[in-house]
Amino acid sequence: MRSDAAEYELLAPASLAEALNVIASEPGQWMPIAGGTELMVQLGAGRLRARKLVSIWNLAELRGIEATAVSLRIGAGCTFTDLRTHAVVAEQFPLLSQAAGWTGGIANQNRGTLGGNIVNGSPAADSPPALLVYDAELELASARGARIVPYAGFHTGYKTTVLAPDELVSAIVLPLRFALYYQYLRKVGPRSAQAISKVALAGIGIMENGLIADLKIAVASMAHAPLRCSATEQMLLGRSLKGSQIESVIASGSAALAAECAPLDDIRSTAKYRSHVAGNLLAEFLRGLQAAGNDEGNQE
Ligand SMILES: Cc1cc2nc3c(=O)[nH]c(=O)nc-3n(C[C@H](O)[C@H](O)[C@H](O)COP(=O)(O)OP(=O)(O)OC[C@H]3O[C@@H](n4cnc5c(N)ncnc54)[C@H](O)[C@@H]3O)c2cc1C
Repeated sequence: MRSDAAEYELLAPASLAEALNVIASEPGQWMPIAGGTELMVQLGAGRLRARKLVSIWNLAELRGIEATAVSLRIGAGCTFTDLRTHAVVAEQFPLLSQAAGWTGGIANQNRGTLGGNIVNGSPAADSPPALLVYDAELELASARGARIVPYAGFHTGYKTTVLAPDELVSAIVLPLRFALYYQYLRKVGPRSAQAISKVALAGIGIMENGLIADLKIAVASMAHAPLRCSATEQMLLGRSLKGSQIESVIASGSAALAAECAPLDDIRSTAKYRSHVAGNLLAEFLRGLQAAGNDEGNQE
């Protein structure tokens, strides 16, 4: 049954400080609404339980993208259009730019925010794998002050997070140190546009003297929340990708990935299919890393 809008209260503060005060006045009672692309669907379907909404859409404090010498700070209220049209994001964090460009259609990209994508906590969401491989940190704000947490530990379960009831995500901070890395992102869905992923894998890596010197891997739809694959990374670090050695690296990497993940079995796909395809994506990433030629010792 559709919701009756008259049963909902909406406040639209003019500043972040004001919004934080509203939330602090009754922690857990005021639900932030940013672009509303998740919440309006729930409202329309009569599934939006929160009755008090505080709009954080278009708050100037949440909208900027600022580069320093060492990092890029992206306001949580930036839309996917903001991200996919930003030169520094495209140059330094192409996977995030790519993910923003395939999140829903243009209307959705004009309205959906990065903060909303993160906090909504869907295991299939598009931006999290990119954020995870870039070692993103989240800036959390409340009327009590601000704190920084690594994004990798933010999701504690299916749609649960470390956010306190009076906190907002105010920004996403990405270190500017991966420009020389080989970077890979692939989303597998029922079609190439406007589809929720069945499985997605992001990977970045760099070779030194023919060995994997550093790599980071993250997946979507392979666990109850977006997952950074630390055990698989540890297994692959230091391995040689020279010539035919890559085949055994792919085999052991795929086994480690399968052991680390607990893929969803839902209306979009089966756990078996997801596990198999994730192994294929990992192989594609490792072959790309080998071919990238970012280290001369990589050639046999
Ligand atoms: C037609 C359609 C297609 C879509 N396609 C995709 C897709 O391809 N890929 C994909 O990943 N998603 C997709 N989505 C989902 C959605 O657009 C994204 O998750 C979007 O990023 C949500 O952002 P929002 O600002 O609209 O969130 P909202 O709906 O405003 O909020 C979502 C949740 O996040 C919370 N929240 C929002 N911002 C903050 C903040 N700064 N701090 C704390 N809590 C916050 C809200 O309280 C709420 O719980 C689609 C949605 C629709 C309707």
